[in-house]
Amino acid sequence: MRLYKVRGGIAIPDHKEGAHSPLEELTPPAVLTVSLLQHRGASARPVVKRGELVRRGQCIGEPVGLGAPIHSPVSGKVIEVASRLHPSGFYCESVVIENDGEYVDADRPEGIADPTSVKPEVIRRRVHEAGVVGLGGAMFPTSVKLAPEGPVDTLIINGSECEPYLTCDHRVMLECTEDLIYGWQALRYALGAKRVLIAVEANKPDAIAKLKQATTGMSDVEVVTVPAVYPQGAEDVLIRRVTGRRLRARGLPAEVGCMVHNVATVLAVARALRDGEPLIKRAVTVAGSGVQRAANFWVAIGTPAGHLLDHVGRRDDIRQLIFGGPMMGQSVSSEDVPVIKGTNGLLAIAEDDVLEFTTGVCLRCGWCLDVCPVGLEPYHLARLAEAGEWHEAEAAGAMLCYECGSCSYRCPGRRPLLPLIKLAKGEILREQAAARTRSQTSGGVA
Ligand code: SF4
Ligand code: SF4
Repeated sequence: MRLYKVRGGIAIPDHKEGAHSPLEELTPPAVLTVSLLQHRGASARPVVKRGELVRRGQCIGEPVGLGAPIHSPVSGKVIEVASRLHPSGFYCESVVIENDGEYVDADRPEGIADPTSVKPEVIRRRVHEAGVVGLGGAMFPTSVKLAPEGPVDTLIINGSECEPYLTCDHRVMLECTEDLIYGWQALRYALGAKRVLIAVEANKPDAIAKLKQATTGMSDVEVVTVPAVYPQGAEDVLIRRVTGRRLRARGLPAEVGCMVHNVATVLAVARALRDGEPLIKRAVTVAGSGVQRAANFWVAIGTPAGHLLDHVGRRDDIRQLIFGGPMMGQSVSSEDVPVIKGTNGLLAIAEDDVLEFTTGVCLRCGWCLDVCPVGLEPYHLARLAEAGEWHEAEAAGAMLCYECGSCSYRCPGRRPLLPLIKLAKGEILREQAAARTRSQTSGGVA
């Protein structure tokens, strides 16, 4: 299949040591902290109280507006509904559950053997009720993506897993191939798409071979090998690479007839429809120089980071913990931070590998421009952010940055490009919100 040229991107050491470690079932801990913020949108509203007994899969949080329900990952007792640390670094309302170790299931809806035998609305409703969100990290409610505003002819399954260290999607493609086929058939049918493209980076030859073999004879499905260049898995990069179609600035994939779902999301869709199983666990990679071995686990949502570290053997000089990959992940301050639906990895970095450096000056080399997949001028955005010139930063495209971190990684001047761009984005959003409030209080007259 023809691949299209995409500007920018970087080749980085992939550190995929966990790629050969099969997914292991991790026994849930004695106490789980289930955040009520596990989707794009506002936090869910708790529907259980302290002291209440819950069963595995029971709904414990209902969405308020955009969102998805949240379910208990174990059976047991609610010991608190309180503010707890979240992988974002903030405190969020959470349901703390004492695991009774019995794993008594709540009633589940009947499984659907053939997803094309039911109406697309049924698929959307079941995916919503199961709490499925984008598991690549974005956590956008999947049911909403199943009702796009325009026609979709191409469903792209994102198996790139371009972040270093992360290997759980790779293992899912190897170990859950049949489930994925069911999942993408359901998604394709619900979207009315004509074809399915499964995009896998070239550094996963075994997954590519397995998927190709499993899809032999499927005329509407193609496994596409894409280059291992970061950030290959970014939605607009992937769409451009495999279809040549280009999203407008801040446009949606459906505007160019595409929809992208991560492989972990496809698996969650399959389990929701075929098995009636809500999203209560996911595949997570644990890796980094601070652990004895890199591994992949099925992890109950709400499991604290420390419980995962206990199972791989921690070194005593862990200096940094990151939820997600090293490029787009978030450093956290405590091993109590729990796994949420969007957690695809936990990295523990040992003292010696934490790079400490002082911020340097711009050398005007232009490398940050070369690597930016959006075509922004990161050095310029950073300078505007330092000067507090938020309007100018917005005009220069700061809001189009999807925070891949390639510019910071490449910068020989050690400029904190991404942190400055994030600062500018935050200030632009704050000013926009303030302007909305002013407009509302003045009766909507600008
Ligand atoms: S990569 Fe760094 S040093 Fe080079 S132009 Fe960009 S900000 Fe300046
Ligand atoms: S972090 Fe933003 S500005 Fe930097 S390379 Fe990525 S998209 Fe471009």
